[in-house]
Amino acid sequence: MKCPRCGKSLDEIIVGNCRVDRCDKCGGIWFDKDELSTIRDERDGNLSWLDFDLWSDINKLKSGGTYLDCPRDGGPLYKIQYGSSDVMADVCLECHGVWLEKGEMEKIIKNLEQKINKETLPEYLRDLELEVHGLFLEAGHTKEELRNIAIIMKLIAYRLVAQYPKITKIVASLPD
Ligand SMILES: [Zn+2]
Ligand SMILES: [Zn+2]
Repeated sequence: MKCPRCGKSLDEIIVGNCRVDRCDKCGGIWFDKDELSTIRDERDGNLSWLDFDLWSDINKLKSGGTYLDCPRDGGPLYKIQYGSSDVMADVCLECHGVWLEKGEMEKIIKNLEQKINKETLPEYLRDLELEVHGLFLEAGHTKEELRNIAIIMKLIAYRLVAQYPKITKIVASLPD
């Protein structure tokens, strides 16, 4: 697959037991629907960290139209913005994959870290870090980067994917 922004071949990165495709030029990441559904099927003990607002309220979703093509099937990627969070995700309504630019992922993590008190960071996130660190130190990516990708995958799988029916409606109502 090619980066929708720069056209460079995407590199596979294994995070936990899932795979994402990353552009090493612009740092954007493609999240495949199949990988995301694997996450949802996992037994997640503690998802309380998801209480932070991003993508939870369907009424806050809006679409900013399309200007990138899906790396999987070439269809249009629709920009989805969430309320005042300023976070943009690009979503394909054909294959249900999600493209996130590097800066958007940084915003998500910053947002999350502001909302979650570090003293009470759920055990869940620590487990996730252990899992990621133990397996993938040799991959040439920092621990923090892999942890952040894992967090964002969980968030997309539980939040954004659940909003596809709404996103489809929003996109259908866009002017041609
Ligand atoms: Zn790129
Ligand atoms: Zn697609």
